[in-house]
Amino acid sequence: MGRPAVGETVTGGANPGGGRFVGGTGGRYRPPFVPAPQTPRVRPEPDLAMIVVLNRSAAPEDVDAVAARVAALGMTAHVINGTERTVIAATGSEDEAHRETLASMRGVESVMPILAPYKVASLEMKSEPTAVTVGSLTIGGGVCGVIAGPCSVESEEQIMQSARAVKAAGATALRGGAFKPRTSPYAFQGMKEEGLKLLAAAREETGLAIVTEVMTPTDVELVAEYADVLQIGARNMQNYRLLEACGESPAAVLLKRGMSSTMDEFLLAAEYVLSRGNERVMLCERGVRTFESHTRFTLPLATVPYLHARTHLPVVIDPSHGTGVASLVPPMMHAAVACLADGLMVEVHPDPPNAASDGPQSLTPDAFAAAMTTCGKVAEAVGLKMGS
Ligand code: PEP
Ligand code: MN
Repeated sequence: MGRPAVGETVTGGANPGGGRFVGGTGGRYRPPFVPAPQTPRVRPEPDLAMIVVLNRSAAPEDVDAVAARVAALGMTAHVINGTERTVIAATGSEDEAHRETLASMRGVESVMPILAPYKVASLEMKSEPTAVTVGSLTIGGGVCGVIAGPCSVESEEQIMQSARAVKAAGATALRGGAFKPRTSPYAFQGMKEEGLKLLAAAREETGLAIVTEVMTPTDVELVAEYADVLQIGARNMQNYRLLEACGESPAAVLLKRGMSSTMDEFLLAAEYVLSRGNERVMLCERGVRTFESHTRFTLPLATVPYLHARTHLPVVIDPSHGTGVASLVPPMMHAAVACLADGLMVEVHPDPPNAASDGPQSLTPDAFAAAMTTCGKVAEAVGLKMGS
């Protein structure tokens, strides 16, 4: 095939669309107009949840009937019994017709879409603050619970000494990592099940509830056998399979904020746990990454009032990881109480310079006791109750 004639349509080969040859000798080949590929139209995020508000006089059978209808419509029903009335959050459908069906049922006052991206965690869904109580520990509902203890469980003597000291100072739960998420694979990784057994022994003696970290979905059952509260660490906040596994556990959950996570991501992570049926979720602000290097992380205390305006879940402050510096921890404990935190999580070690992990941010038992005394005064001033 020779040179194409002027105006001749060229097709085939690398020119499937058919370009045109324009001009004579030395003319240019003008490529055909090819419209930009159509990007698939992105549908707006569906409103995957609605709240069914029952009226004050709704009978328990009405509530059951609505929950059953929600399930029959292919949605999941989360029944929340408030002091004033019952509401049912129905998640998993965007169907307008479903809303109408539910609105027509006996005992139903109204049906509204939940506008926040997180649903069960939202204040729209439940306007009363949630208090989580596990044994000796209460977090929320006007009580500021205190979880204290070493970063890691290191030995029987170390965890027993820590447990006795934090209890004497007013802590209501014992913390201690048995499975440690360490930045370096060469750093101490924790005593694992041996550590869990030591924590359970410390509970036996002191009566303190146990809070300890779980790092993988396959360990959830094992950790829940010994612990009262499953801690999900900052590095695992978006480990969705772990969140789901904790959501199916009967143990309560303390979810730490990822060090670079937004508030919506934090609340959506909590939603993973809640949506699997575990209602006992506590949020923990532990500081975020910033340009700043004088502290280990930057601790935003404004997280407390911010979350209180968006979720009914209680908010715990961890000033130990939030600062990384022991001398900065007591003032941040006081400040956290002043801004109405529902709980504190503090690292306390009988011998910080020789701690296996996080020694520089760990308080001595004496420093912790002194900080707790001041927290008590601050709590009184703001109308919070420290401890149980
Ligand atoms: C801890 O509590 O010891 C811990 C590892 O915390 P974070 O996940 O917040 O770093
Ligand atoms: Mn630590």
